[in-house]
Amino acid sequence: MTGATTLTRIAGHRRKCGCGGCRARQARYLKQRELAVLRGTWQYPVPVEGVAARLEELLQAGWTVAQVAAAARLSTECVRRLAGGPAVSRPATVRAATARALAALGPRSRLAPTVPDGMLINPVGSMRRLQALAAIGWPQAELGRRLGLATTPMSTDPSITAGRARAIVDLYRQLWDVPGPSHLAAARARGRGAVPPTAWDDDTIDDPRAMPSGAADPSAARSHGCLSREYTSGEVAFLSAAGETNENIAARLRITVKYVEKMLSAQNKARCLA
Ligand SMILES: [Zn+2]
Repeated sequence: MTGATTLTRIAGHRRKCGCGGCRARQARYLKQRELAVLRGTWQYPVPVEGVAARLEELLQAGWTVAQVAAAARLSTECVRRLAGGPAVSRPATVRAATARALAALGPRSRLAPTVPDGMLINPVGSMRRLQALAAIGWPQAELGRRLGLATTPMSTDPSITAGRARAIVDLYRQLWDVPGPSHLAAARARGRGAVPPTAWDDDTIDDPRAMPSGAADPSAARSHGCLSREYTSGEVAFLSAAGETNENIAARLRITVKYVEKMLSAQNKARCLA
């Protein structure tokens, strides 16, 4: 049982409590409903299942319960109850307005103005954005400076404040298609598996389940044990242009130095012919 005051009972009172206070609440609720039905504005409660499934999808997509509540302008208690769990009894129905508020949430409402700056949220999207900017040549120190931070923004914290996440989204919007000043930063980031902004979709970058698209995902390619020829060729060209030695490129891509040389000479030949 929860401790929340509902439309028909006082906080902590059981479902069919008959005390004076609960009876008064119940009577007021029924009168309001009757009036609304007469006016044609009554909205029947909706079954909880669809609403709970919608909430579950949001939680899977990396939202926190408090974040859902803030973005949908619902109480945290209400959302927690809908989320269910071992010690929570889920209501059978949900007010139509609650269902609508949850249905209206999308990727772009993760940082809705009603989500307070100090709220802790999932850091996945922020990390991916910073790594993607690093992959196109933005050093972490420079990103930190632009975010007004003394230290480098990339961290291993399990959460980030909504305010910081907002600042990172803004910075990402400014820089996602602007090549950064440092080839070395780009080479290092890509060596660590970072993918460029073009590999991410704005609507899924915050979803922990999302994968970067295309052959630009070196971690996925590596986990399958072999890299496609086009991908390797592209990385060799990129790392070479970034000033990496053939030995470093070979070590990073787990191929032989001879193979690196062969690819570079093939690329030079192609460039001469073009
Ligand atoms: Zn009562």
